[in-house]
Amino acid sequence: MGRALEPFVALTGAGVSAESGVPTFRGPGGLWQSRRPEELANPQAFARDPLLVWRFYAWRRSVVARCSPNAAHLTLADVEDHIGDFTLITQNVDGLHEAAGNRRVVELHGSLWRLRCTRCRERWEERRVPFPEMPPRCPSCGGLARPDVVWFGEGLEQGILNRAMSSAARARLMLVVGTSAVVHPAAQLPLIAKKAGAWIVEINPEETPVSIYADEVIRGPAAQVLPEWWARNRDE
Ligand code: NAD
Ligand code: ZN
Repeated sequence: MGRALEPFVALTGAGVSAESGVPTFRGPGGLWQSRRPEELANPQAFARDPLLVWRFYAWRRSVVARCSPNAAHLTLADVEDHIGDFTLITQNVDGLHEAAGNRRVVELHGSLWRLRCTRCRERWEERRVPFPEMPPRCPSCGGLARPDVVWFGEGLEQGILNRAMSSAARARLMLVVGTSAVVHPAAQLPLIAKKAGAWIVEINPEETPVSIYADEVIRGPAAQVLPEWWARNRDE
């Protein structure tokens, strides 16, 4: 590669968890009761029919609860162990990076394993599987709970977005794994890194908008090609 390895930023999307058995939104298995995720993962759908959206999340959690980190997640945990200045930014809400051992994860889109109040700012962990049948009430104010995930049409939390953007702007190396790079503002992060002079490596079996400007493109499933890439680069 011939470039410095740090600051090293990895940006991951649903594809990094595909081989763990978590369906991507746009790939096969992304539908629930023949509904597209976009129809359910939005605030209007929750306002209209909270129970329907709740059940969609109960299903997603039960799927994820059966999944374990794959070799791509484990490789990124090894990267964190070896690289002093490493930031893992993920669009995933499945918690598999943490399960693999990564400690400093910027979760752009929240987590399936947390709830938050629709009325106040309260957030809390909720790891029960199966989910309670109905959305619980907030322990502080009694408001209705919702999954602590960013839905289609909602903005990202400013502090989290700032952290992600400043890491991208400082990166010397950015690895973009398993993201279709069409969901903004996450899709801008590799572009920010590129403009700031980072070396961009894309890992994805399909072409994406990042492919055009990436310095290195590796076409293949992340659980196979990411460990190979890391083995080639870690001791360089
Ligand atoms: P996406 O569904 O839009 O795209 C997935 C990408 O992964 C595609 O580009 C596909 O080619 C690639 N891919 C498929 N199999 C792969 C593999 N084995 N190795 C590497 N890449 C592979 O996902 P996205 O870009 O993350 O954006 C969708 C949104 O959906 C995100 O905001 C995310 O929060 C959410 N989502 C999360 C999960 C999860 O937490 N696991 C799952 C589905 C969707
Ligand atoms: Zn509350």
